[in-house]
Amino acid sequence: MTDEIALSNGQTMTDPFGRDITYLRVSVTDRCDFRCTYCMSEHMTFLPKKELLTLEELDRLCTIFIDKGVRKLRLTGGEPLVRKNIMHLVEQLGRHLKTGVLEELTLTTNGSQLTKYARDLANHGVRRINVSLDTLDAGKFREITRWGDLARVLDGIKAAQDAGLKIKINAVALKDFNDAELPEMLRWAHGQGMDMTVIETMPMGEIEEDRTDRYLPLSMLRANLSKQFTLEDIPYKTGGPARYVEVKETGGRLGFITPMTHNFCESCNRVRLTCTGTLYMCLGQDDAADLRGPLRASEGNELVSVAIDEAIGRKPKGHDFIIDRRTRRPSVSRHMSVTGG
Ligand code: SAM
Ligand code: SF4
Repeated sequence: MTDEIALSNGQTMTDPFGRDITYLRVSVTDRCDFRCTYCMSEHMTFLPKKELLTLEELDRLCTIFIDKGVRKLRLTGGEPLVRKNIMHLVEQLGRHLKTGVLEELTLTTNGSQLTKYARDLANHGVRRINVSLDTLDAGKFREITRWGDLARVLDGIKAAQDAGLKIKINAVALKDFNDAELPEMLRWAHGQGMDMTVIETMPMGEIEEDRTDRYLPLSMLRANLSKQFTLEDIPYKTGGPARYVEVKETGGRLGFITPMTHNFCESCNRVRLTCTGTLYMCLGQDDAADLRGPLRASEGNELVSVAIDEAIGRKPKGHDFIIDRRTRRPSVSRHMSVTGG
């Protein structure tokens, strides 16, 4: 209960560049039931289960972050909904929504398990979710996810809508794969009352293919979309890095996440926690802090709190992602599934 009281003390974590850290993304598992080609290699070696924080430990860590000023929490992965008993964690974290100290609990999912969990998510206080979907063509969907089934994801989206969840569709823009289809996807998403965001591929982790072949600068995509749609910049913000436009013809919103072409780091308000309790202060840098050690070393939260403060004190100014034809190496060696999107 003392934790809950501390929440209302209005604590904030501020990094050396004056940015308040109010947003925590938690990768609850590195495992996934898909193998998207830009994200993972087909034969991934996942962490031994004993390395993982328990759901209780994840709850304790998240609660400490909320005590320290986090107001928005996103569960991600790997695929968050394949973690065993994940609804228990969602329910536990939902108590912070009830007290009002946490403003938003949300998740990013591939949608494969939504028919099973959409209603529980809504019952535990989740209001909005992001569903990653790169194509509406069943064959191409299988190709890009390797193991995914489009019909199942579309059923999941329907279940989430029926449960009253607001959905944003996230699509990675992939040259010569889905760029021609994105206008149609946009009409589909907006036609169903869903916002959409497009993302540039980021050079994270070794995969089988060469990312430079697929990299599509969103400035080019935007120029192409402008031939069919009227895009008007709007100040809409969801706490994440997307910059939004309103699409006049559909009345919906389209977000652009442009880590490669536009450095959005100046307004970064987030840090990322992995399922082993490692805190990454930046998606695009390797520096990290171990929180599992201090968490397990004491029943009190003081050691963790100090470790978090030290980590935030080293949050870098920004990332330096490059997709480079000469090096062909990922800028960051870990896969996106370690720290989540
Ligand atoms: N499995 C869940 C999903 O797919 O939504 C959550 C984790 S996934 C790593 C989060 C997001 O990261 C997805 O939207 C995915 O498309 C995106 N992503 C994965 N690898 C990426 C990469 N190398 N560059 C850009 N986005 C990537
Ligand atoms: Fe799994 Fe998401 Fe990565 Fe696809 S993008 S392999 S669904 S973690």
